[in-house]
Amino acid sequence: MTGLLRVEALVKSFDGFQAINRVDLQIQAGILTSIIGPNGAGKTTLINLITGKINPDAGRVYLDNTEITRLPIHERIKKGISRSFQIGDIFPRLTVFQNIQLPVFARLGYAASPLASRERFLEANEEIEEIMHDVGLWDQKSQPAGALSHGDKRLLEIGMAIAPRPRLCFLDEPCAGMNPVEHRQVLDLIIRLAEERNLTFVIVEHDMDVVFSVSDRVVVMNKGEILADGTPDMIREHEGVREIYLGEEVLG
Ligand code: ADP
Ligand code: MG
Repeated sequence: MTGLLRVEALVKSFDGFQAINRVDLQIQAGILTSIIGPNGAGKTTLINLITGKINPDAGRVYLDNTEITRLPIHERIKKGISRSFQIGDIFPRLTVFQNIQLPVFARLGYAASPLASRERFLEANEEIEEIMHDVGLWDQKSQPAGALSHGDKRLLEIGMAIAPRPRLCFLDEPCAGMNPVEHRQVLDLIIRLAEERNLTFVIVEHDMDVVFSVSDRVVVMNKGEILADGTPDMIREHEGVREIYLGEEVLG
């Protein structure tokens, strides 16, 4: 296992409220890490800090031992970090194909050069088609994204997240609002993409059965801190984790 990402003593406050309180974390390549924790624990804020949507008050973020703490989002994407687009980020009137085209063109630098050659457009098309096949949206490629079912919109989010060909990809609640069958399908997809694309995923997930069955590692956040970090078995037995999830029978 290789250390891919390292976060050191990260701090972020909003109007005096400390959302992230001296968080240290390492992410290893090739293992599926889940981040769990109650609402407001700081999971999304941590991902926002790592992916560059917001800047920390203190602390550092390293990718491959290179500091990226204050790098703009697009520079981080170039270095191999991406995150899921949220449903709100999808363009509802564009087709599935056109939505995936946006991050693929961005990766290939087409946004800056509209006069790209025919060969390069064909290359982009191939890539877009492969992604649509990979996430299971091929049959819907000409549908406006806004007409997709909730589950299919979430697949499109994943398609857009993998389009920049990241090495490390954060998915913030990729299964939110899905029924159990769709939920399982998305997790199977994530596991398959990780293998086929040599891609490391970090997911935020609420369903404990799912977390414990698919994750290699579980990071538990609470009140802006990392409360526990270990294998599913270790987390299941962790006293502090059991306390915050008390009353939920999920820990068995
Ligand atoms: P989680 O994803 O674990 O549910 P968040 O990271 O979204 O938690 O939020 C952590 C805390 O920080 C919450 O109390 C939330 O209200 C607060 N917070 C997050 N983003 C902002 C923001 N932009 N402005 C003010 N408070 C925020
Ligand atoms: Mg969140």
